[in-house]
Amino acid sequence: MATKRDYYDILGVPKNASDDDIKKAYRKLAMKYHPDRNQGDEAKKAEDKFKEAKEAYEMLSDPQKRAAYDQFGHAGVDPNMGMGRGGPGPEGFGGFAEAFGDIFGDIFGGAAGGRGRGGQQVYRGSDLSYAMEITLEEAAFGKETQIRVPSWETCDTCHGSGAKPGTSAKTCPTCNGAGTVHLRQGFFSIQQTCPHCHGSGKIIPDPCTSCSGAGKIKKQKTLEVKIPAGINEGMRIRSAGNGEPGTNGGPPGDLYIEIRVRQHEIFERDGDDLHCTVPVGLTTAALGGTIEVPTLGARAEIELPEGTQHGKTFRLRGKGIKGLRSSYPGDLYCHVSVETPVKLTEHQRKLLKELDESFRKGGERHSPNAKSWTDRVKDLFK
Ligand SMILES: [Zn+2]
Ligand SMILES: [Zn+2]
Repeated sequence: MATKRDYYDILGVPKNASDDDIKKAYRKLAMKYHPDRNQGDEAKKAEDKFKEAKEAYEMLSDPQKRAAYDQFGHAGVDPNMGMGRGGPGPEGFGGFAEAFGDIFGDIFGGAAGGRGRGGQQVYRGSDLSYAMEITLEEAAFGKETQIRVPSWETCDTCHGSGAKPGTSAKTCPTCNGAGTVHLRQGFFSIQQTCPHCHGSGKIIPDPCTSCSGAGKIKKQKTLEVKIPAGINEGMRIRSAGNGEPGTNGGPPGDLYIEIRVRQHEIFERDGDDLHCTVPVGLTTAALGGTIEVPTLGARAEIELPEGTQHGKTFRLRGKGIKGLRSSYPGDLYCHVSVETPVKLTEHQRKLLKELDESFRKGGERHSPNAKSWTDRVKDLFK
C-alpha cells in the first residue's frame, strides 16, 4: 500500500486542533476541490484530493477514531488494516451527496426551492435592496418619506400566461414538464432547475409581445417609508413582500432599505453620543465666559471657567441621540479647541508682548502644564 499522508497534514491543522477547526479546514478543502470549480483535466485530481480530505475529516471528526489514529497512526484506523469501518476506502466512495448535504447545505443551498402544484419548482422571489442616504438630523428624529421601487404587474395582454393571445404554452420537452433535470457532474448527480424552461415545466412557442413571454411587466411603485428616530448607519429596514415576485407562484422577496447617514458639518456620532469641536479664542479661554454651542436641532450654552485649557471636554447630558433601542438619549461632548490669534495688528502685537513680559515675571504659575513638563524633560536628559 502506498504511503498515506498524515491526516492532520491533509487538512492543514495542528495535532491539537479543535473539532471546529477540523470542520472548518475540511469545509475549505471541500470548497476548493468541489467539482463545480474543477473541470476538465483538473477534475480527476480534485476528486482524489477531495476523497483524501474527506477520509481525513471522517477520521478526525470521530473522537474514537481520532484517538486511535493519534496512538497508532494509519494502522489504528485504516479500513484495510482491519480496524476501521467499511468506508471510505478508495473504491467505497459512496455517500458523497450526504457528505455534501451536511457540509454544503449552507453554502450551496441558496435556491430555497420547494415543490408547487403540478410538480413545478417554486421559488421565492429575490430580495431587493435600496440604499437610502439621510442626514444626521433625520437619523435622530426620524423621517417619513416616499421611495420609488420596481414592481411587477401581471401583463394585460396575455393575462400572465406569457403566450401570445390565441396561442398557449406547451410542456417543456427537456424535462417533460417536471421543471427539473438530473445532471451528472463528475461524481455527483445533481437535481437542477431545467435550463430550458427555468423550472416552469412549460415553454412558450409564441411569446406575448407586450411582456416578451414573462407574463409580467416591470413598473415602478411608490412606497411610504417611515424611518424610525434613532436609526444609525448600516441599519436595514425590512419591507416585507416588496422584493421581486416569486417564480411559479412562489412568495415574493423582501425589500431592504439600507441606511447611510451623510457626514454632518458639526457633529460626529458615536453610538448614541455626539461629539463636536468648539473653537474658543485665547482670551475667552483665559478669562472664562459664556459660549454658545449647537446641539442637534437647537442651541445651548456652556459656562467656560477662567483658565479653560485646550482639549477640555464639556458634557451636555441628554443632548445626544436617543437610539432605536435606548431608553435615554446619549450625551453631547463639546471638545474645546483654543485658537491662537492670527493676523495681529501692531497694537495687538504690542499688547501681547507686554502680556508676555508680565507672564514671564509671574513665572510658571501662569502655565499649569509647564512645570511638570520641564521636570519630565529634565528627567529625560539625566
Ligand atoms: Zn404578456
Ligand atoms: Zn423544462
